[in-house]
Amino acid sequence: MAYTKDDIITLPNPHLRQKSTRVGIITDKIRDIAQNMIDATLSWDASRDHEVGVALAAVQIDSLYRIIVVRNNYDDKEDKSFTVFINPEITKLEGDVLEDYEGCLSVPNIYGKVKRYSKVRVKSLGLDGKPFRVSAEGFLARIFQHEIDHTNGIVFIDHIKDDADAFYKLKQDGKLAKLDYDAVKKDPILWQ
Ligand code: ZN
Repeated sequence: MAYTKDDIITLPNPHLRQKSTRVGIITDKIRDIAQNMIDATLSWDASRDHEVGVALAAVQIDSLYRIIVVRNNYDDKEDKSFTVFINPEITKLEGDVLEDYEGCLSVPNIYGKVKRYSKVRVKSLGLDGKPFRVSAEGFLARIFQHEIDHTNGIVFIDHIKDDADAFYKLKQDGKLAKLDYDAVKKDPILWQ
């Protein structure tokens, strides 16, 4: 059975704040996890009108391995291809620190403004076990920082401190509406 959006774990699941394990040998089990991640992301994507499922970390389907999948063309909802990164690591953070909106499939319906570097360099293994490196900027740089955070047990809301304008919810019409900062900070579902 293919994985679906219902296999994506959400807060307050404590696994989301645990560090994932490095992948040793890339076995069929690891290849299956990567495919399950892609299936779950596409299932989630198909259920959302105003959002695109751009990436996922393995912990989000409750497989605590250092694996992330990133959509190759997230501007096109029709392009369903992904790149798999095994044991991804940021080797350099560069450029400016910029604030922008982020959401997460494991933090339903909450968006937040998070500061991230505008450029990153990432080293990783491919599904074939071969090492490769990528440089990314802009939104893709943000995606790598967000997803590699997941492999370290960090959720994007953990970066938000003392910013009254930081939290938003997505309304039915696809627009963002500001949430009360103190109410979000006190929500036990998010911070257990
Ligand atoms: Zn996320």
